[in-house]
Amino acid sequence: MQMGFYMLTTGQMQKSLKLNMLDCLSFLTAAICHDLGHDGYTNGFHVNAVTPRAIDSNDVSVQEHYHAAELFRILTKKQNNFVEDLSKDEYKIFRKRIIGLIMATDMSHHAEAVSKINGTVSEFDISDGKNVEKLTEGQNESELFKTQQFIMETALHCCDISQ
Ligand SMILES: [Zn+2]
Repeated sequence: MQMGFYMLTTGQMQKSLKLNMLDCLSFLTAAICHDLGHDGYTNGFHVNAVTPRAIDSNDVSVQEHYHAAELFRILTKKQNNFVEDLSKDEYKIFRKRIIGLIMATDMSHHAEAVSKINGTVSEFDISDGKNVEKLTEGQNESELFKTQQFIMETALHCCDISQ
């Protein structure tokens, strides 16, 4: 979460991606909860041992499904729900952003994520903060949502493996 905050602020991710407060809240909440309730086992272990977590996730991103679901289970309790003032539409965005972000921390997506971000960086000739505005240039609302989500997911994955 600390690294994510650094990327949003000093790294200017918030400004470059035109992120609003709800997007930033979603990103930081995903960051702090991305390993929530981790039991120390790998996804491979769960799948091979056919554990309850593996069964709940149908063997797909076992731990990540658990972390995201656990966050939203905690949030359903009134005393924990710090987002109860969000409108229905805002909550939908909050939930969609976070689920995508936590799912993207599954290491099995690493090679694909690296190749996708490398492709984007070379397509727009992005270097040292130059040309970042091209990422979102001329995009409509739904394209912008996707671009923001893709870059935030890549950023969170970087945070995860940066320690
Ligand atoms: Zn982690």
